[in-house]
Amino acid sequence: MSEWLQCIGCARRFDSSEVRYRCDCGELLSVERDAMPDRAIFDARLGSRRTIDKSGVWRFREAVLDVEESAIVTHPEGSTRLYEREWGVGGRESENDFRAGSDTRHPTPDTRFTVFFKHEGENPTGSFKDRGMTVAMTQAKRLGARAVACASTGNTSASLAAYAAQAGLRAVVFIPAGKVAAGKLAQTLAYGATALHIRGDFDAAMQLVREASDRLGIYLVNSINPFRIEGQKTIVWELLQDLEWRAPDWIVVPAGNLGNTSAFGKALREAFDAGWITKMPRLASIQASGANPFYRSYRDAFAERHRITAETIASAIRIGDPVSHRKAVSAIQLTNGIVEEVTDDELMLAKREIDEMGIGCEPASATTLAGVKKLRASGVMRESEQIVCVLTGNLLKDTEAIMRNVPAERTVEIDASIAAVERALN
Ligand SMILES: [Zn+2]
Repeated sequence: MSEWLQCIGCARRFDSSEVRYRCDCGELLSVERDAMPDRAIFDARLGSRRTIDKSGVWRFREAVLDVEESAIVTHPEGSTRLYEREWGVGGRESENDFRAGSDTRHPTPDTRFTVFFKHEGENPTGSFKDRGMTVAMTQAKRLGARAVACASTGNTSASLAAYAAQAGLRAVVFIPAGKVAAGKLAQTLAYGATALHIRGDFDAAMQLVREASDRLGIYLVNSINPFRIEGQKTIVWELLQDLEWRAPDWIVVPAGNLGNTSAFGKALREAFDAGWITKMPRLASIQASGANPFYRSYRDAFAERHRITAETIASAIRIGDPVSHRKAVSAIQLTNGIVEEVTDDELMLAKREIDEMGIGCEPASATTLAGVKKLRASGVMRESEQIVCVLTGNLLKDTEAIMRNVPAERTVEIDASIAAVERALN
């Protein structure tokens, strides 16, 4: 099977061994291939003990990257869990009476529903980014790169640092100064990367890393890199495989830089065309209302591409000028998808609900459940429909957001006496 890079605008083709992120016409590139395998070979690998088969990315390798197995840089990653939970059931009342007025924890029976959570925070560095990074880093090695770089709101940096360490490459990350959750920054530094704190927002860091990689010959592994998208596709393929290839009605994804929305659209197109699934799920991309350029475009039928100054508590999706805009538009159109926005209050409430299910996620991930609640209420998502929310980052990625969000009475300092314990618990 052969592979090439193809412009999503003018369809011009380039060799896949060329270091190139855009076509001469300015549009993004996509990795395309001339044949797809039968899905039965992926299922046959589920019982294998080989590292490459245990990777939830490389289990699908014929449809991810045409490369010698020995050249693959894998932790392994993927093979994350799919949780099935009934939302709105069994809240612990005495603990949930805070924040009066906004508490939706005690819904009437007809507002209860089952929802699946595909938890990408269970990847080696705690976010979905590892899926794209294993492929981009394998490609970087193949191209003979000595150093790799990205702009990041945190998760990409941590993932890049970990995979560069494994591959023996120098890692440089461009992060908006003071705008990255402490856990993510610590992780990045611990794995050995150099962090450049850019005095500007994510979009400024993105612009700068693109110039720097051109000028300094550093391989760029942001989601502008089409090989990242090839890895991220496997989130969808794996959840389809988890569901025994019976496609759900909806796949719900947080939307920031739009790499995932793009990757999910490509994954569904390829799975449908290859006959792995017979029904096309609908994508629901959920943005934070303070970082909603894609939602704004959706609202005017994608007539215009919006660029805004982004502000939201969900730092992972605090992006005002998403790089993968055009690919994401195609993904929404292909899947008859929709774009929704949720406020910081709505997403933080949903985060607390996901956390208190014992699952947990970072704030950006909770846009999914917040979006589902909104779309269920408006009737866009119907009662009988099967919904899979993709949680993109681990609970521990942003502990400051948690500590700001839990009620004070749940964390109490007391004297070392049994009387004080009794008082505190009454
Ligand atoms: Zn082109």
